[in-house]
Formats: sequence, structure tokens, C-alpha cells
Amino acid sequence: MGSKINRRGFVKGLAGAGVAGMAGAPALAQSPSTTGRRSTAAPRRLPARGEFLVRKGHLLTMDESLGDIPDGDVHVRNGEILAVGTNLRAPGATVLDGRNMIVMPGFVDTHWHMWTTYLRCMAGDKAEDGYFPVTTAYGQIMQPEDMYYGTRLAAAEAIYSGITTVNDDCHNVRTHEHAEQDIRALTEAGLRANWSYGSYRGVPAGELRNLASVERLHQNWTNYSPDGLVRLGYSWGGVPLGAAPAPPLALENAKKEIEAARRLGLRISMHLASREGTPPGQVQAHAPYLGKDMVLIHMLAATPDEIKLVAASGASISASPGSELRIGYGLTKAGEFMDAGVNVCVSVDTAPLTGNCHMFGILKLLRNAENAKALSEFKLSTRRALRMGTIDGARALGIDDKVGSLTPGKRADLIMIQTNVITMGMFTDPTRVVVEAAEPSNVDTVVVDGRILKRGGKLTALDPEQIVADAIVTRDTLRKRLS
Ligand SMILES: [Zn+2]
Repeated sequence: MGSKINRRGFVKGLAGAGVAGMAGAPALAQSPSTTGRRSTAAPRRLPARGEFLVRKGHLLTMDESLGDIPDGDVHVRNGEILAVGTNLRAPGATVLDGRNMIVMPGFVDTHWHMWTTYLRCMAGDKAEDGYFPVTTAYGQIMQPEDMYYGTRLAAAEAIYSGITTVNDDCHNVRTHEHAEQDIRALTEAGLRANWSYGSYRGVPAGELRNLASVERLHQNWTNYSPDGLVRLGYSWGGVPLGAAPAPPLALENAKKEIEAARRLGLRISMHLASREGTPPGQVQAHAPYLGKDMVLIHMLAATPDEIKLVAASGASISASPGSELRIGYGLTKAGEFMDAGVNVCVSVDTAPLTGNCHMFGILKLLRNAENAKALSEFKLSTRRALRMGTIDGARALGIDDKVGSLTPGKRADLIMIQTNVITMGMFTDPTRVVVEAAEPSNVDTVVVDGRILKRGGKLTALDPEQIVADAIVTRDTLRKRLS
């Protein structure tokens, strides 16, 4: 969700949202947050990139030339996929037993406001408790370290549920330090990410982004992500539109921003024509700026002509049915974009609306919504949906040469999903089982850039109890400050 702000009575609404949130969360009350302090211990070291062989898994390589390989092996060394096939020889490599496992590339998210995760399900049922007032009220009082604790919760959830790449669309960059703390949460977790420099909650319309801060990050980027797993991107607000007159310089500022982002070679994300019923013209107004380096988010208001415009530009579309349906933006247009030849990918968006942030649920929702719209059982296949959640997401972020499929030479971002469990058995069609039956707890193993970050269903480098406890302290401290 973008930066639309509904200021009506948000502080009053917060009290209600807070009480409702507490009442529905008995497990949180028993968590170790009673000290009221957050952990400041140094993070655990990330595991080394070793050499391993996944042996006899059911491979969904998502590589068109390799296809699916039953009883397949994947050989990984120092973060690189060396070989994919059957009966591979890899003397000395640690063997990961792939029997009763679907092995596939990790999921690629393409738009996630990760800092909002500590406000999970806080968007309520009344206008004053809605997503925009709640995130704005909390966002406005967040200190830099609060960003870290919110985003760390999201990063842990991503890894737990098999998302290996995120596009963290950070729309609460209040200061340079807010940015740094948000980025730190990603690099410490070992996730692959595009970190998109965004706006902040409560920003006055038309204000120029702190481009000096963007430049500073860009210049010193190797200090933030020495191994290059996290890359710098830009979340652009677009040119001013709408009935109200734009503030002076708003157009000029918007142009300066996109010019700076392109000069620095940053991937650009943008919320555009988000909600069904938005008057047409938004896409047309942005036509001069659209390009292959862009991920356009939502676009539920796009008309057939506007869809053609996007197709011609080479931009990708990110659908987030979990939030779009929940907030009442309307039905996804993913199918229409897909039919027009646009690269369509998927995204979490935001935990206050999406709830749990895993791709199994999001892809299933997308497939079901597209089939419902088409009045057809066959509109969006599970294989196509899985492509959207893997290789097409990587393409949208400009990293499909590195990840998104199990292809020799690519980096090793892969997941292993256990199939011989009560909610997954019988194993039938693997793509259908993943999209229709799997859930995060079925993800046995998660590897990012050759590092095993989840194994045997447990995170290896992050402490979930501590992360949840710290997020609770963050929420409670900010709630007190608001009351
Ligand atoms: Zn969004």
C-alpha cells in the first residue's frame, strides 16, 4: 500500500485498534517481553557457505530447459549452483536428503513494506482504525531502531516461509538513520533484497525526497552490504495528479527523484492506479517515465489501453492480492496484464493487511481470484503462478541472471518442502501441491546464497522468540507514546 493518508481521527482510532489487538493475541501476552527492554545482543553469525548436495528431491527447477526432475540432485558450493541433474557425484559434499521433498527456487517477493510487520493485523474494522491512519500514527513516532525491530520480524518470517528475496519498499525513511537501521535488519538476517528508498508516513504532498541521503547510501553501499546480497533501489511516488492543485515544485521534485534514481542505476518501484475506480489518466500521465527498470504495484484501475501502454514500456506488474482484496481495492488485474504479455510478479505488501506474509497463501489467492473472474477452473495454472512467485519476480527486480530458478551457474537460493505430512499427502502434482496445500511449516530447508538459514523446520541464524519479543516491546513502547 502506498502513501495515501486518511488523517481523520487516527489517534482516537489507535486506542481502539490497540485494545482489539491485545484481546485477540493471548500467545503474545505469554511471550518474554515482560522486561520491557529489547535485546541488544550481537546477532548470531550467519552460517558459512559450504558445499552440499541435495539428493533425490522432486525438483521444480523453474528453468524451462531443465524442467522438473523427479529424484533429482542439486550440487552447491560457495553459494553457487554447480550442477542440477540425477545421480550427481560430489565427493566430500554434505548430503541433504531430498526424499519426500519438493525442491525449488526460493520465492521472490517484489513489494513489501517490511517495517510495518510489528503492526500485523492492526488495521481494524472502522475508518479511524484503518491501515493508513494506523501505520501513519505509529510510523510518525518511530525512532531509527524501531525500524530495525519491525523489519527483522519480517525478515525472519520471510526466511521461515521460504521467501529468499524481498523488495523491501521502505516507506518510512524519516532520516538517514531510519534507512540504515532498516537495511541492517536485512543484512543481518542473510536475506537477498532490493531495498527501496521510499517516503515516510505523514510526508507533505510534493516534498522532495532527501536525495543527498540516497547518494550517501549509494556511495557507501559496500559498507552496508559487503557481499552484495542487498541492493539499493528506489520507491518513487510519481508525478502529482488529482483534482486538487499540486503544491509548487511538486512536479519538478518528482522529476528530480526519478532522474536521480536512474542516474544511480536503481531499480524503481511505484504504486500506480492502485484502486479500482481511480479515474483513468494516471498511467497516461506517467507514460514518459515508464521503463523496463520499473515494478508497478497494484494497478487495479488500469484500462485496456493503459495495460497496452505498460506492455510496450517493458515494466513489470506486482500483484498483492492479500492486501488488495483485504483493503477493498478490488480484484486483481494480474490475468489481464499476463494476457497482454506483461511480466507479472507477486508481493506481500504489508502485514497489517495481509496478516501472515507467505507466498503459498498469496499465490493461492491470486490463482483463485483469477479463476473466479474468468468463471473458469483453468485461467491461472499453478505452474504459471509459481513462475510469478519465482523467476518472474527475479526478472522484475533485474536479478533473473542470478536467482529465480535452479540453474547451474546461478546463486543457490532454494527451498525444500516436506510432502509426507498430514496436510500435504498424498503427493500428486507438485506445482498444485505447493500452491494449494503447502504452508510455511512445511518448509523444511531454506538456502540463501548457499547459506542454510532454515533446516529441519528451524531457523539456524535467527532467534524467533527473541525477535517476536523485541517486536512486542517496540509495539508496546510506541503505543504508550501515542496514548
Ligand atoms: Zn504497498
